[in-house]
Amino acid sequence: MPTVSITRKINIKDFIKNGLRPIASTVIKSVWRWIPRSAYLGRSPLKLILAITRKCNANCVFCAYQFAREEDKVHMSDSLFELVLRRIEQAKIEEVMLSPNIGEPLIAPNFIEKVKSLRAVGIKKIELTTNALFLY
Ligand code: SF4
Repeated sequence: MPTVSITRKINIKDFIKNGLRPIASTVIKSVWRWIPRSAYLGRSPLKLILAITRKCNANCVFCAYQFAREEDKVHMSDSLFELVLRRIEQAKIEEVMLSPNIGEPLIAPNFIEKVKSLRAVGIKKIELTTNALFLY
């Protein structure tokens, strides 16, 4: 008896795009509908990423800093920092990350005082991203 074999090559990219992706999307949408809105609405953030400056004392070749407009390379004003402190206190945020997209936090005016102020409003953990030039 003659046999017929049917083989079909599976293109992985097409399989992911046309097979897996729609299935994953449907599953995620279904699961999302079952999560109560109270689980993610009206809650305070756990952590704040805070750019206390957009100025930098370096000019690394890979960084967007060299393309930033000069008027955008500024320190955060004291009044805005005070407002941020009040909001942190209200929202009971406990972690701050001093990591601007561009800029070096250690050159922000009164850096130590700013850290002390953050601690005074209840921040328990402060992370810092720095180019470390000031630490030499
Ligand atoms: S922000 Fe960071 S990466 Fe960019 S120039 Fe300054 S030190 Fe370099």
